[in-house]
Amino acid sequence: MTTMESLIGLVNRIQRACTVLGDHGGAEGALPTLWEALPSVAVVGGQSSGKSSVLESIVGRDFLPRGSGIVTRRPLVLQLHKTEEGQPEYAEFLHLPKRKFTDFSLVRKEIQDETDRLTGKTKQISPVPIHLSIYSPFVVNLTLIDLPGLTKVAVEGQPDSIVQDIENMVRTYVEKPNSIILAISPANQDIATSDAIKLAREVDPTGERTFGVLTKLDLMDKGTNALDVLEGRSYKLQQPWVGIVNRSQADINKNVDMIVARRKEREYFANSPDYSHLASKMGSEYLAKLLSRHLESVIRARIPSISSLITKTIDELESEMDHLGRPIALDAGAQLYTILELCRAFDKIFKEHLEGGRPGGDRIYGVFDNQLPAALKKLPFDRHLSLQNVKKVVSEADGYQPHLIAPEQGYRRLIESSLNYFRGPAEASVDAVHFVLKELVRKSIGETQELKRFPTLQSELAAASYQALERFREDSRKTVIRLVDMEASYLTVDFFRKLPQEVEKAGNPATPTVDRYTDGHFRRIASNVSSYISMVSETLKNSIPKAAVYCQVREAKRSLLNHFYTLVGKKEGKQLSQLLDEDPALMERRLQCAKRLELYKNARDEIDAVSWAR
Ligand code: GDP
Ligand code: MG
Repeated sequence: MTTMESLIGLVNRIQRACTVLGDHGGAEGALPTLWEALPSVAVVGGQSSGKSSVLESIVGRDFLPRGSGIVTRRPLVLQLHKTEEGQPEYAEFLHLPKRKFTDFSLVRKEIQDETDRLTGKTKQISPVPIHLSIYSPFVVNLTLIDLPGLTKVAVEGQPDSIVQDIENMVRTYVEKPNSIILAISPANQDIATSDAIKLAREVDPTGERTFGVLTKLDLMDKGTNALDVLEGRSYKLQQPWVGIVNRSQADINKNVDMIVARRKEREYFANSPDYSHLASKMGSEYLAKLLSRHLESVIRARIPSISSLITKTIDELESEMDHLGRPIALDAGAQLYTILELCRAFDKIFKEHLEGGRPGGDRIYGVFDNQLPAALKKLPFDRHLSLQNVKKVVSEADGYQPHLIAPEQGYRRLIESSLNYFRGPAEASVDAVHFVLKELVRKSIGETQELKRFPTLQSELAAASYQALERFREDSRKTVIRLVDMEASYLTVDFFRKLPQEVEKAGNPATPTVDRYTDGHFRRIASNVSSYISMVSETLKNSIPKAAVYCQVREAKRSLLNHFYTLVGKKEGKQLSQLLDEDPALMERRLQCAKRLELYKNARDEIDAVSWAR
């Protein structure tokens, strides 16, 4: 292949790949894509001016629906791929990727059917393109777009807006600066009335990307010729005008094939008294070569900007890939490693919360600083140690035998029953710490970027963490209850040893039994028990936090995932990959991203190879 062929072939392949990925240009007005940066040829002209016929003769194959009236009702993006000599010719539609058409009359039928699928069997149009690729040794590498013909009036069955709709659709294709305009005008009409030239002049005023094509030279009135147009005197374009003689409707009806038609066209120019001096620059074969050559120069000029677009896109795709996360390894060892890495990343963030690198851990100390003291303060000791209750408890404890010295049993019962009240705040503190830890687990999972793509692992990790926290809570609960119970099981002797001395100090040393049954006596008992309880409360205010931190916070830092690690370590390959199940939407996005990346990287390599080969 020559450099020219390979260059245009390259662009074609890139465009083809873009199309498959849905990155193609078209009327949808997608973002500027690689496709948009690459040149393509759009065929424009009035209805029945011969657009489809010109395309066919460039391809050298009958495959387009042709005739009078509005035949082309959807854009047809036609990609010609030159293949090695001796290879079979075939066509392929984007919407039927598995099917290779070798019978070109079936291609025509499929274009019609696919048009009808969107528009119905009406005369309506649709801007959604049909994509067709033709692989053949006899074509040049080109992308051509056949468009509905421009009209002047709506016919029966068409909405009034059709004239404008068609023009707008055609315009979206030809106004892109990368589009090369093949402006088709029939020679049997005055060039001044040509729709194609009118539109081309609007979107390409300098005429640098417009190719003027004059069809139906054979249908001109006897005694007239098109030399003024063909020689650029009527309407000057920067590119030369090309005259064409396509098959007439009668030829088509008679099934005159393309080879014969091309030969007839050559003969027409060679033998024409008017055009024989231009014969080498006329006809569809010449037009195909001219276009191909022009494309090459356009592509050459664009290579630097295409290259930089490709590089930029590769960078963007790479960073999207990083964001989406690289694909996961398939073997169990690597998967286990990945899982453990992810767990560690989560665990690190969780620890940071507890150690103060991230917010939230301080709420645990809020429990100890505010919640616990407030709860202790609220305990109903006033009621419990009311004169009435003290009297009742002490009297009951004494039974029928009035106590002799101190009401030891009474004291014990009062103290023990008071201490029971501490269980509530103790357990509440444990629960509060538990909920803070649970919340931090939830938060940390959310903050572990690497985990985002693995919803299954996320929920397993959360479940395992919650279970561990539950175990820590239970242990902590037992411990604080034990602390409370310990206070009840052995009273601080010192405290009581001091009591009689206080009584003495109070001035009643000799008569301890005198006011044994007076209110003062019970009040004193209440006050003694109350100060004992206050002392215990102070102790618990300090020891409950120690227990909770020891059993819950410290354990969460040390061994939150230990159990989970053991479980994961026992899992088989299949169970591991289940843990690494990803969100299907995300997998799909990565797949698309990877495909694009591959396309763009290939494009970069090919473009590098072509531009260095010069
Ligand atoms: P389109 O509507 O622009 O795509 O036009 P077609 O390619 O469908 O052609 C419309 C009609 O004009 C068909 O019947 C063709 O056979 C006929 N036609 C196109 N070009 C020529 C030509 O150069 N000479 C003759 N005699 N007929 C032509
Ligand atoms: Mg047509």
